[in-house]
Amino acid sequence: MHEKLFTPGPTEVRSELLKELSTAQIHHRTEKFSEIYDDIQGNLKKLLFTENPVFLFSSSSTGAMEAAVTNGVKKRCLNFVNGAFSDRWHQITKKNGVACDKVEIPWDQAVKPELVEEKLKTGRYDAITVVLNETSTGLMNPVKEIGEVVKKFDDVLFLVDAVSGMAGTEIRVDDWGIDMCLAGVQKAFALPAGLTVASVSDDLLKRAEEVESKSYYFNLPLLYKYHQRSQTRTTPAIPQIFALQKQLDDIVNLEGIENRFARHQEMAEYVQNWALEYFDIYAEEGYWSNTVTCIENNRGIDVNNLINSLVEKYNIRIANGYGDLKNKAFRIGHMGDLSLADIKGLLATIESILEL
Ligand SMILES: *Cc1c(COP(=O)(O)O)cnc(C)c1O
Repeated sequence: MHEKLFTPGPTEVRSELLKELSTAQIHHRTEKFSEIYDDIQGNLKKLLFTENPVFLFSSSSTGAMEAAVTNGVKKRCLNFVNGAFSDRWHQITKKNGVACDKVEIPWDQAVKPELVEEKLKTGRYDAITVVLNETSTGLMNPVKEIGEVVKKFDDVLFLVDAVSGMAGTEIRVDDWGIDMCLAGVQKAFALPAGLTVASVSDDLLKRAEEVESKSYYFNLPLLYKYHQRSQTRTTPAIPQIFALQKQLDDIVNLEGIENRFARHQEMAEYVQNWALEYFDIYAEEGYWSNTVTCIENNRGIDVNNLINSLVEKYNIRIANGYGDLKNKAFRIGHMGDLSLADIKGLLATIESILEL
């Protein structure tokens, strides 16, 4: 029996999707490949409510984060940091020699639109990075409201890491004015790791032409040339693409996008209510994530013991707190293709282990 994953990525993958990985390989310069590519495009645009092209990166999400800042910044980037992944984006920006500053916000608090407005009014920046769903803290930033602010500043690009949110919570790329919205498929898409999708706006492509990114692999204008032929520029992760095609078809045509979001909402509320009954929730109220809950260990339980018991006795895995939050919190992923029944079963098991 395999270990069932309730971790906030990678997530549990259905066996039907795993089977797709063993589809006989096709060549990526064929019509057959382009048909699959177009089918995926159509469904990704529906999922993200966008007319923008959605690129496929055969890399983990971190690669696409790097593409965003190396292509999208001409003047100076402002990285909003309120968790481990937003901090990583700042590190990526710096490491690539892109001019940037960071705004540090306590990890249990959201990036507020007023703060974004205040910073952008300085006129120093032409791009900002925000993480939609901080997987390290279970906090969802108000990306829609931040987008309203960014729209007031014509030359500012809005770069969003939506890794653990996309396909689990509503993201309206065009309405919210997101120039790049990226996500690896091993989180709420519930697919095997190895592929990242990212919508790319005209403004970002225009900026990328001006910036002339030195990156060969993550060069957006070059990737766009192949996108226009319904191909990827280099050999893509073809097995993952088969699985993505099936999963998107299931999301759009079988479950339905709205139903998928509603199921996530339902699972999230169940976990949140449970967490409030027995523990506490780390993130400030009003910004709790629809896909992962970071539960504050205010009872002083031994988190490692809990994780080990779940693995050894029940073949279930949850996650410890991230970084400094290790043992001070634990995280439950309620995303992907898990059901409310799965969540209820998990929480009942935790109750029995902890004798709550
Ligand atoms: C998992 C995650 C990442 C990093 O993803 P990789 O696919 O491991 O590169 C980045 N941002 C967020 C919000 C994540 O949850």
